[in-house]
This record gives sequence, structure tokens and C-alpha cells, in this order.
Amino acid sequence: MGDYFERVVDIEATAEEAGPLAARVLDRLVAEGILTREPDREGMYSLYADEGFAAGPEWARALQTEPGWGPGPVAVITGRHHFVGGQGEDDAEYAVCPRCAARTTFIDYPNSFEPDERTWAPFRSAVEAWEAGGTGEATCPACATPSPVTDWQWGDPYALGTVCFEFWGWPPLSDAFVADLTARLGHRTVRHMGKF
Ligand SMILES: [Zn+2]
Repeated sequence: MGDYFERVVDIEATAEEAGPLAARVLDRLVAEGILTREPDREGMYSLYADEGFAAGPEWARALQTEPGWGPGPVAVITGRHHFVGGQGEDDAEYAVCPRCAARTTFIDYPNSFEPDERTWAPFRSAVEAWEAGGTGEATCPACATPSPVTDWQWGDPYALGTVCFEFWGWPPLSDAFVADLTARLGHRTVRHMGKF
């Protein structure tokens, strides 16, 4: 199960606060024995980090049930990234305008599994501009208002964030652990599961 991952993405932290915030939360996880500071990359296929941290002696406290397998490394990712759950998809399904609440659909499931390029391309470009350090505004097709990509509400499992904890090869995390991690981050988070 080394290619299974679960991640918790902070979707509110700014790029400036990401580094110190991730370090603080990592300190707590190490203090509690969930993680160590030992570098580990075995069975990790993250798109965002080459190396993670090895699990600590208390790692199973983060799980929903008794561990049947695992654990692999945990990557602590900072910086502006788009994250997608599932199996290697890279496109958003839809986004909701922060101004008028209209939903713009990119992938018309179940009729299609590919995004409509004409609709998706400007949004993808805006996300890329944000990742490169810009504001990254996408214009709503319904109300014609441009809004920063971080203000749009993205259809699950697509998320924009600056801090992410990515658990490789861990059995499912408990809701309580994810809620606790979210409280420590102090922001809204999105949870993804997927396979590499
Ligand atoms: Zn709108």
C-alpha cells in the first residue's frame, strides 16, 4: 500500500506564513511521537516533495483503526500548489464564483472525463499565475467579474493551498486526528485520498 496517500491541505494560510506554520505543527507532531525528524523517502511518490519524515513510535494514534500496514514517510509541503486527489488527475471539476455563486463546470461528469478546454484553460492559467507568485485572477463566465483563484470555491478533490501534510502508505487517518491537525493549522483544510 506504499502508493496510497492521504493529505491534509491548509487552504487559507498565506505563502508568507506557510513556512513557520508548517514548522510549528511539525514540532508538535514530533513531540507527540507521531513523526520523527528522520528523513525518509521509501514508497513516496509526491509531486511536491522528494523527501518526507519517518513515522514516530506513536504513529498509530493518528489512525482510524489498528494498523494493518504502513507507515511510509510524511511529506511536509509548503509553497503555492494546486492539489488533486484521486488517481493522478490534474484538472478541477468545477469552481464556484465568490461574487455571484454561479458554478462554472470544467468536467461534465459522467458525460465526460476530460475538461472542456475552452472553459478550463483560463482558470488553469490563473492557477499557474498564482503558483508563480501572482494574484491569479479568473473571470466568472456568469457575472464577468475577475476574482483571485484563492477566493473561488473549488470542487472536491481540487484544492489550492500553501501548507500540506501528505501521508504516504499510512492506513486511513482518524477524523479526530485530522480535526486536531486542522485546529493546529488554525485554518480551513481539505482532505484528499488517492493512489499514485
Ligand atoms: Zn460570478
